[in-house]
Amino acid sequence: MRRVTTKRELRAALVSSKGERRVLVPTMGALHAGHAELLRRARDLAGKDGCVVASVFLNPVQFDNEADLSTYPRHQEDDAQLCEDCGVDVLFMPTPQEMYYADRSMVVEEKLLSRALCGAKRPGHFAGVCLVVSKLFNMVQPTDAVFGKKDFQQLAILRRMVRDLDYPITLHGVPTVREPSGLAISSRNERLTGEQRVHAPKLYAALKQGAAAYVAGESAANTVEIVTKLIETIPGTRIDYVEMVQSETFEPLEIDAHEEGPLLLAAAVWFGEIRLIDHVEILR
Ligand code: AMP
Repeated sequence: MRRVTTKRELRAALVSSKGERRVLVPTMGALHAGHAELLRRARDLAGKDGCVVASVFLNPVQFDNEADLSTYPRHQEDDAQLCEDCGVDVLFMPTPQEMYYADRSMVVEEKLLSRALCGAKRPGHFAGVCLVVSKLFNMVQPTDAVFGKKDFQQLAILRRMVRDLDYPITLHGVPTVREPSGLAISSRNERLTGEQRVHAPKLYAALKQGAAAYVAGESAANTVEIVTKLIETIPGTRIDYVEMVQSETFEPLEIDAHEEGPLLLAAAVWFGEIRLIDHVEILR
């Protein structure tokens, strides 16, 4: 594995890469079993002759909360080891100064799908994601890129970016990797206290219960209420949102509607200082 920190080194490492496919996996580090699944998928897609590029970059531009950025876990050496173990060929670990010009003035903003869910709650977040991913696409020029469905709205927005800006790149979505408890694995889970960890799986349990109620005939509004009430019983939490939307357009559902899928029941919940997101897809 070649480990590089500058754009120049990255270019040099890619010149010697062979094979038909070059597969990119962008991450923010503190890598875990979810990221490992993405990297393994990338290795499969690239084949033994292709090139897998992973980036580890804690992108300051996508953080809307200074405390979240300053406390975000960082484990560069462990990250490099995991990349090596998962068959990464080139690992790109730039500094913010390497990634961004101090007087940068370009914006890459998706204006429709970003209006719902996390986009509504985290101003500028998805524009920060689109900016860094578009820069990585330009630097790496991959044929394919792999993202997690855990960040469902992010993947949808990036698919829109690829379509609308004509990036000749195929995006692949990997299902959410969960702990046996059902908790979606996340770098931020590291920051949960022992007690919060015990309660955190209840978020996914509540969403699943809500989805089951919807499938059994409840309206969208009742489903949201069921999930809200369940989450409100989890000690030490504060709801950021519980919403049901069309999973392709992210349009909200009619309040009393019982529409056919594909739908998304999604929530963001604060466990103390840590904000966790999760969702259930309703496909029928
Ligand atoms: P992050 O480092 O959190 O920005 O995540 C980098 C990539 O890994 C994104 O495409 C995430 O959606 C994906 N990812 C993070 N956690 C998981 C998980 N538990 N299962 C699947 N993909 C994940």
